[in-house]
Amino acid sequence: MSTARAVDVIVVGGGSCGSVVAARLSEDPSCSVMLLEAGSGFGSLGDVPQDILDARILPIGPQSAWVDTYLAELTPTLTRTVARGRVLGGSGAVNGGYFIRARPTDFDAWPKSWSFDDVLPYYRKLENDTDFSGSFHGEAGPMPVSRVAENSRSPITEMFVDAAHSAGFADDSDKNSPVSAGGVGPVPRNIFRGVRTNAAVAYLLPALSRTNLTVVDGARVLAVTFDGMKASGVTVARGQSVEHLKAERVVLCAGAVRTPQLLMLSGVGPVRHLVEKGVSVKIDHPRVGRGFSDHPEVGVYYQVSDAEAGESPLEAVLHVDDLEIRPYSVPFDRMIPGLENGDPMIGVGLMRPESRGDITLRTADPCDTPFVRYRYLETESDRSALSAGLDVVGEMIGGVAPLATVVGDPLLGRLGTSLHLSGSCAMGDDSSVLDDSCRVRGIDGLYVLDTSAFPVVPTRGPHATAIMLAERGADIMRGTVA
Ligand SMILES: Cc1cc2nc3c(=O)[nH]c(=O)nc-3n(C[C@H](O)[C@H](O)[C@H](O)COP(=O)(O)OP(=O)(O)OC[C@H]3O[C@@H](n4cnc5c(N)ncnc54)[C@H](O)[C@@H]3O)c2cc1C
Repeated sequence: MSTARAVDVIVVGGGSCGSVVAARLSEDPSCSVMLLEAGSGFGSLGDVPQDILDARILPIGPQSAWVDTYLAELTPTLTRTVARGRVLGGSGAVNGGYFIRARPTDFDAWPKSWSFDDVLPYYRKLENDTDFSGSFHGEAGPMPVSRVAENSRSPITEMFVDAAHSAGFADDSDKNSPVSAGGVGPVPRNIFRGVRTNAAVAYLLPALSRTNLTVVDGARVLAVTFDGMKASGVTVARGQSVEHLKAERVVLCAGAVRTPQLLMLSGVGPVRHLVEKGVSVKIDHPRVGRGFSDHPEVGVYYQVSDAEAGESPLEAVLHVDDLEIRPYSVPFDRMIPGLENGDPMIGVGLMRPESRGDITLRTADPCDTPFVRYRYLETESDRSALSAGLDVVGEMIGGVAPLATVVGDPLLGRLGTSLHLSGSCAMGDDSSVLDDSCRVRGIDGLYVLDTSAFPVVPTRGPHATAIMLAERGADIMRGTVA
């Protein structure tokens, strides 16, 4: 074990948020930044593996070297293996490429200093939208945003959009507009010309030549260390060696599953639970790991005569009330190397679920996965909203001959998760884990800037909002927030 020199900031996790935070903070040459990523890294675009860049592949299968998997309890009787990215770029490096903003009203649940007017400049700053311009869109940001043009849609998407129009749903051509009122339209994607662009590619690679930025891959942080009630660094394992690294400030960006686990392993969490697991307590934080939210998804499987696959898994979606109806342009499993079978599917996502889950330690061993319990479908309201979504799909595709044969029946058997887990160390009122600057209450110099910090999962996919949060969080840390 050795102790290295101090840096100004240690960023834990080089995923969607950590890549942005490290790149933005290191723009100031007087700030030394060290990014520690548990998974593999790459030094240039040419080194990035093809299955990470190719938007037609979801590299999350059983053999994938780019993911961390854990068993999650969706309901007391339904357990699923769930994946998250463990590679530079994080979950954004292996995801579906659907890159949409939260709705303005979603920010009603956030602290006052995170109103939609406060965050809009950051949504604009992060993107280069190739289809829309004007006061709501950005044209110079690192993340490309594009949509599949009408004349390039896959046959499945085409049939779905026609069926939605015939059923009377309105066109919704710009889903990132604050005045979008729902309906059917193209999904904004972080995909351009077939390439899925993750935050490490967009933000971190261009910053790697900075002498004040160090990126270390294969480095798994085991715990945060403290000097009294101030974070003083981290303990990190790399291969067989374990080191203590010192920093003025530590930013946790390990994602909404590993960040609460790391806090608890460091003694920051619900006191009774920590004592039960044999972790010595630094500070009692009852809400670490508690009350997260995610979007349950029920699959409607159907049979179709051989239809050509699309350029990306999701080209258009329909928003009806709190439901997101996703006509995957290619059977989901066929995009995952190692699975490759599976029927075509339309996903029905519940975007404002009542269910809240929790993440707890199985053991005090940092190599162990935490226990993730979703509690999906516990309320009658969630069950009936999803059933209503299935009715909408049934009615729509019942009229379209190639999509008409729906396979399978019961709600539970087709239940999955959208993998949008958020809010496991949320900011919010005085009893929340984080204050509105994303600092852990009661500890100096310790921040959480990832999807754990969301007060609740947005009513749209979280990826664009994650990068917005990281952009704005970095400005808060620098004292330059707009
Ligand atoms: C398969 C999949 C598909 C998805 N599809 C979509 C989609 O189409 N649209 C959408 O909006 N959202 C989608 N999401 C969700 C979205 O990608 C995530 O919400 C977002 O990327 C999370 O960002 P994050 O920075 O919070 O965490 P992550 O991007 O997961 O980053 C966490 C990083 O921390 C690292 N790490 C963890 N623990 C440690 C440790 N102890 N030490 C060092 N490093 C550590 C991990 O290796 C990882 O790189 C999907 C997610 C998955 C998994």
